[in-house]
Parts: sequence; structure tokens; C-alpha cells
Amino acid sequence: SSDGSTKAQRTLAIIKPDGLLGNYTDDIKRTVSEYGFSIVEEQIVQLDEATVKRFYAEHSSKSFFSSLVKYMTSGPVLVMVLEKDNAVADWRALMGPTDASKAKITHPRSIRAKCGLDTEKNCVHGSDSTKSAQREILFFFDELAPDVITEHDEL
Ligand code: ADP
Ligand code: MG
Repeated sequence: SSDGSTKAQRTLAIIKPDGLLGNYTDDIKRTVSEYGFSIVEEQIVQLDEATVKRFYAEHSSKSFFSSLVKYMTSGPVLVMVLEKDNAVADWRALMGPTDASKAKITHPRSIRAKCGLDTEKNCVHGSDSTKSAQREILFFFDELAPDVITEHDEL
């Protein structure tokens, strides 16, 4: 801004089931903090099919949709709200491209290069715009949170 101060922005990050089960959480959190993000909310949740289908509704007509739902329900995920100046774009850049196998070649220092496997099992999620970030943060930390917590506690 004109007075030289930075304007904090928030984005939604998810460590997907392969990331959580593969013990990448501490490494990812260390990277998050090194890059100047603060974690303002976090929650481990076991997503069910209906929840993933709503979260990824924009992909419902894609050929990979049912596989994506299976992947995202295969184990618990860690959902986080990250905050820093330019958080949405900076988290996308830090994650690397969708296809983790390509990321290993083109963006070897990215998180997906380090902990992802392929174009589906890519370890992390990040909102793709400020508008998506707003929807996704409300999705997990307002609208859905109480139901999700109850389901998880009953496991
Ligand atoms: P991103 O997570 O980089 O924003 P997309 O929004 O395009 O990527 O896709 C959402 C998620 O769906 C991806 O992170 C990945 O897990 C999965 N996915 C995307 N494209 C494919 C594909 N071609 N085949 C299988 N899974 C895919
Ligand atoms: Mg996306």
C-alpha cells in the first residue's frame, strides 16, 4: 500500500492424505513458517465423500473426479488457514504445479516436488484466487467445521 505497510491476505491450504500419512507435516509447516506465513487456523479432519464432492464441485464433470474423491477420503487431512502479504499467489508458488512428477523436474524445490507423486497424489492444496480462498476458508472454518469435528471424534 502507499504507506509502505503490507496487507495481510489469507488462503486455504490442505495437507492431503498422502502428505499426512507420509509424515510430511512437520517439514511443510517448517517451510510455511520460513516463507513468512502464519497459521491462523488448523484442523485435522477425515473428509467424507459428500464433503469432498462439494469442496471440489468445479471438477465434478472431469474424468478424474471419482478418483479424486477416493483419494481425498482415503485418510485424514490437515486443513490450515495461512496468512501473509500476497498469501494466495505465494502459497500456490510454494506448492508448485499440479503434476508433482513434472514439478520434480521443473520446480524441484516446491512442496509438491518433495512430497507429491503424480498429477493426482500431489500432497497439498491451495486456493487458486482470493475469491476461492474466501469460499474455502468459510467452507472449513465456519459452515462445515462443527459437523466435521463431530464425525472425526466418533471414529
Ligand atoms: P490444483 O490443486 O493445482 O489447483 P486442480 O484444481 O486442477 O489442481 O485439480 C484439483 C485436484 O484434482 C489436484 O490437486 C489433483 O489432486 C487432482 N487432479 C487434477 N488433475 C488431475 C488429473 N488429470 N488426473 C487425476 N487427478 C487430477
Ligand atoms: Mg485447483
